Amino acid sequence: MINVTQTFLPPLEEYMTVFKRAYDARWITNRGSLVLELESKLQSFLGVNQMIITNNGTTPLQIALRLLANQGEVITTPFSYVATSSAIVWDRSTPVFVDIDPEYLTIDETKIVEAITERTTAILATHVFGNPCNVEAIDRIAKRHNLKVIYDGAHCFGVKYKGSSLFNYGDVSTCSFHATKLFHTGEGGAMFTESHELFHKLYYSHNFGHDGPENFHGLGINGKISELQAAMGLALLPYLEQIMAERKRVYDHYEAELDLRDIQSIKIREGTLWNYSYFPILMPSENTLLKAQRELNQERIFPRRYFYPSLNKIPYINGPDMPVSENIASRILCLPMYPELQKPDQERICGIINKNIC
Ligand SMILES: *Cc1c(COP(=O)(O)O)cnc(C)c1O
Repeated sequence: MINVTQTFLPPLEEYMTVFKRAYDARWITNRGSLVLELESKLQSFLGVNQMIITNNGTTPLQIALRLLANQGEVITTPFSYVATSSAIVWDRSTPVFVDIDPEYLTIDETKIVEAITERTTAILATHVFGNPCNVEAIDRIAKRHNLKVIYDGAHCFGVKYKGSSLFNYGDVSTCSFHATKLFHTGEGGAMFTESHELFHKLYYSHNFGHDGPENFHGLGINGKISELQAAMGLALLPYLEQIMAERKRVYDHYEAELDLRDIQSIKIREGTLWNYSYFPILMPSENTLLKAQRELNQERIFPRRYFYPSLNKIPYINGPDMPVSENIASRILCLPMYPELQKPDQERICGIINKNIC
C-alpha cells in the first residue's frame, strides 16, 4: 500500500537510546531535559531565537487566538486544514474568510482590507504546503489597521523566506510535529514569536498559567509535550538533511514524469527556500480527479484531497462562497510524498495521472 505519506522513523535502537535517558531519570514530562535539548537544537536548526514545543499543532493556534484575537472577527483562509478554522470557532472568535490566490494558494492579500470591520482583531493565515503568504503585504495591512497576525505554519518546518525562518514572521507563528508532517514527535507542535513579552504569555499559557508552584501569571491550559515524544524528535534530528534531500529527489522525479501541460503544480513564492513538504497537483476538473483517484485506489495507492472541502463549506461555519478556494479544493490532489518512496512507484502513479488528463 502506498499512502500520501509514510512516517519517517529512526532505527529503533537509536530511539531507545534517547528514550532511555528519560526512563533512567524517571522524568517523563513537565519540560524535562529532552524537551529542553530538542528546543535548543531546533532553534539552531531552524534559525529562530525563541520557541516553545507543544503537545500538537492545534493548541498553539488556540493559545495564540486566546491571547490576541479577543473573540473578535479573525480574517482567515478557507484553504487549509480544518484546524485553522476550528481553532477560531473553538475560541468563540468569528472566522471571516478571504479568498485565496489561484497560483500561490495562500490568502489573497489584495482582498483583506475590504474584509476588515471595527470588530476585526486578527489575521490567521496559513502558509499552505509551506508556501509563504505575502508576509510583507499582510504585515503592512496589519500595522495600518492595528491587527495581530498569526501564521499557521504547520507545513513550514525548515522553510526559509528571504534568508530567515518563515516562523519569524507574524506576531505568532505555529508548527505541527504530527506524524504525518515532515519533522515529527508522533504528536507535537511548536509556537514562535520574536517578542519577549508575547513569549512570556505563550509560555505560561501552555503551562496552566503557572508562576512557580503556587502563583499564577494568568489563565493557562496544558499544552506541554512529554519526554517520550521529545525522544522521537531528538532521534530524528540526525536525519533531517537526508529527509529534506530525499523529498527533493521525489519532487524532481514527479516533475520529470508528470505531463505538466494539463496539470498545474503549486507556484512557490519568490525568495523561498522550500521544504518539499507536499506534492499537490491541480487536475483539469473534479471529474478527472475522481477518476484518477479511483484508479489509484484500485492499485492500493492513496493520494489525499488536501484540502477538501473548502473550509467555508463546513456545516458549523457555513460561510459565504469563496469561488477560487472552492474551485481549487475540488481539483487538488496531493500525491504520495515521503523519503522512502521508490521511483518505479512514482512512475506507476504518474502513468495513471497522465492517462486521466488527456
Ligand atoms: C496538521 C495541521 C494542523 C494541526 O496540527 P496537529 O499537530 O495535528 O494538531 C493545523 N493546521 C494545518 C494547516 C495542518 O496541516
